[in-house]
Amino acid sequence: MKLVILGGPGAGKGTQAARLCQQLGITSISTGDVLRQAIAAPQTPEEAALGERVKPYFQQGELVPDPLMIEFMRLRLLQPDVSQGWLLEGYPRTAFQAEELDFLLDDLTQRLDWAIWLEVSESVLIDRCLGRSRSDDHPELIQRRIQVLYETTLPMLDYYDYRKRLLRINGEQLIEQVADDILTQLRG
Ligand code: AMP
Repeated sequence: MKLVILGGPGAGKGTQAARLCQQLGITSISTGDVLRQAIAAPQTPEEAALGERVKPYFQQGELVPDPLMIEFMRLRLLQPDVSQGWLLEGYPRTAFQAEELDFLLDDLTQRLDWAIWLEVSESVLIDRCLGRSRSDDHPELIQRRIQVLYETTLPMLDYYDYRKRLLRINGEQLIEQVADDILTQLRG
């Protein structure tokens, strides 16, 4: 199964991604985490180089430029650990990235099964972000990330909706209920 999970900062993408990957036996790829690690604790010179290039954008809550992200995803989806399927968290972030992902998958003779959209209101997103303690979750950055979400992520939903690959899930429910709804819809 090949999935992407979409939602604002604090929508529960990470939590649901971890559960889904365990249940479906697929690999989770979180671009935010990979970039965060490339900046803070790179394991290889390539990762350190990537980290240096993305750092200015990352630290201001801006999106990393598409060409950098697309190149990164191409390399990542060629790794052997994703052969059983994958779930992308944090990618795509824009309609352009969504389209580029489809082009890339065509090249790899793969196809995305579903885009899962965790619907959570702005006020709940802010409350949840303020309640967690990651160092990059300060109020101005949260606000900027949410603004970026509305500007760039929402148009992407139309892209997947039009292609009949969008699953809309109420992300304000309890974690268990959200997880159940996702599995029910995936199986239905
Ligand atoms: P996240 O942890 O998913 O909120 O990502 C944290 C930061 O990583 C974002 O604010 C962006 O700077 C960067 N980032 C993560 N994924 C992407 C992406 N698909 N495109 C551009 N920038 C990204």
